[in-house]
Amino acid sequence: GPDNIVKKRKDYFFPAIANFYEDPPQLVSGSMQYLEDHTGKRYLDFFAGVSVMNCGHSNAEIMKDTIEQLTKLQHTTTIYLTEPIVHLAEKLSEILPGNITRTFFCVTGSEANEGALALARMHTNKSGIIALQGGLHGRTHLTLSVTGIPMWRLDDELVKENIFFIDRPYAENETSEISMERSLQQLSTILQKHGSDIGALIIEPIQGNGGIVMYPSTFLKEVKQLLKQYGVLLIVDEVQTGYGRTGKMFAIEHYDIVPDIIVTAKALGNGFPISTFSTTDEIAKSFNKPSASTFGGNALASQTALSVLKYIHDQSLVERAAQLGAYLKEKLLKLESPFIQEIRGIGLMLGMQIQSNTGVELTSANVTDYILEKMKERGFLIGKNGLNRDVIAFQPPLVITKENIDELIIHLEDVFTELIR
Ligand code: PMP
Repeated sequence: GPDNIVKKRKDYFFPAIANFYEDPPQLVSGSMQYLEDHTGKRYLDFFAGVSVMNCGHSNAEIMKDTIEQLTKLQHTTTIYLTEPIVHLAEKLSEILPGNITRTFFCVTGSEANEGALALARMHTNKSGIIALQGGLHGRTHLTLSVTGIPMWRLDDELVKENIFFIDRPYAENETSEISMERSLQQLSTILQKHGSDIGALIIEPIQGNGGIVMYPSTFLKEVKQLLKQYGVLLIVDEVQTGYGRTGKMFAIEHYDIVPDIIVTAKALGNGFPISTFSTTDEIAKSFNKPSASTFGGNALASQTALSVLKYIHDQSLVERAAQLGAYLKEKLLKLESPFIQEIRGIGLMLGMQIQSNTGVELTSANVTDYILEKMKERGFLIGKNGLNRDVIAFQPPLVITKENIDELIIHLEDVFTELIR
């Protein structure tokens, strides 16, 4: 029965695969911003399966199109033509920034980043890559190697010599100016030394797993300018930030630049696996390996993605994320606790940096876990991330309401008060 699955998971999964919570909820159903476990307990979902379920769980309007497509035609591969994948490519070219008009479809974020890096290499004939400390780009060999989170980073002889890291500059703490200067200086030094061997810089516009870190507003403009001088392409990884999450369709819009390649995944399928890397006419021509992903953008996934984009548009979810995100951020900023160091982020991608406190035996990661556990008991699933796993992440489906936020805040207040006792 379902009661055994916690034990079975221990027996049959790889030991390193970690859950949130000692006793993770065994979820059996979902409806928009709500989830339900095997005991019938209901949760308000404030993590959305890591920024995936932007349109809500089992969204009836989207699923109706998916089910219709499922009964008609599931999959053919891109060797043949189906309507959904072509319409999706056209739709994406309308909503992607600037002159980015061409899309390659894959299945996961890792795979799309891998493809984007391959494309940059083909276009520039240079194999070196620059990435940011604190970034996360996936689970394949190369994407693990450009991941800048020590607990996951693969530091492998095969590719290591070709990969360079710069520090991430913070936007929200007081030293942001200084750290931006430092990051740009590091970038400039690497480019001067190795620019003739480097094809790409890959960056999340807002770091997700690294702890919801946004850069100073002019940082990416300066980065782009430097890269241009050395013929290095800018790849923006919007796997976590894309499709309304941050109050813009794509988070790169907050920085007012157009990258060379943009990667998306997660929320595009609202739970259905689909990912993309997209670029300009000119760069797309360089992709000279005529390969296609077997499952990438199959009819079912593409039809679902089309319905997702229509739903985001019809329900104004981008504006909703901006408004509700501002409301939630204001409420989080008003919470008072010696354990809260900083509130970061934008739209419905908000992070609360937890700190340890004198007289308490707990590390900041322990405090974070305590808050997650207590909030779970109260019926709220919130997330965590950060280099030390001590940032609480609020990344709910964009369909949540103001009332949902008010409820969350009341319970958060209580949990922080209990912590002091
Ligand atoms: N890039 C970013 C920014 C991500 O957050 C993730 C997943 N958390 C990935 C890439 C990898 O995506 P996937 O798990 O779909 O391979």
